Amino acid sequence: APTVGVLALQGDVREHLASLTAAGARAVPIRRRPELEAVDGLVLPGGESTTMDKLLTAFELATPLRERIAGGMPTFGSCAGMILLADRVVDAPPDQRTLGGIDMTVRRNAFGRQVDSFEQEMRAPALADDPARDEAIHAVFIRAPWAEEVGAGVEVLATTVGGRHPGRIVAVRHGALLATAFHPELGADARVHRFFVRMIREQTGAEARDEIART
Ligand code: GLN
Repeated sequence: APTVGVLALQGDVREHLASLTAAGARAVPIRRRPELEAVDGLVLPGGESTTMDKLLTAFELATPLRERIAGGMPTFGSCAGMILLADRVVDAPPDQRTLGGIDMTVRRNAFGRQVDSFEQEMRAPALADDPARDEAIHAVFIRAPWAEEVGAGVEVLATTVGGRHPGRIVAVRHGALLATAFHPELGADARVHRFFVRMIREQTGAEARDEIART
């Protein structure tokens, strides 16, 4: 099973560890650089992106993380983690930095004060175990961002339906990077984590084939 880290500086770390375990991964919390070097993939949890930004600097993890992300490590960010993976952020403090990697502009707290938190059933066939079955995903949004615009290389996996803000981009994939504005780690549905574990297995398989081709 792939070893998948969960950045454990702040946020809902335990929930991601449980979802990854349910999805068949070996899940480990990450606080130090050597721990980061030992994982096949990483989850950036939900929480508060401005706080995580400061803690990443304090724990000297920002640079090694940027390097691993740029080097192709599969990484999944939910909510605050989605903000960390965005190349550009709006409605953020001017000094807030991200790790970047996904060619998108994310708007923090985009759904507004009136609807800080809400839940909805969404179609996201690309994230399903069996895309042909197209089961709805129950998505929990807590002071969530959305992707305001995405680059040509970014695949949109889910958009909101109905409510006050329909049609907003809330799940994306860009190569080895996955981001959701909602929290698939809350609740018993591990489909998004299984999708991420499949992404890691594909990547590890591709690297092994390259290695064999070179030798
Ligand atoms: N609003 C938070 C932020 O800007 C994200 C909220 C969440 O992760 N649930 O980081």
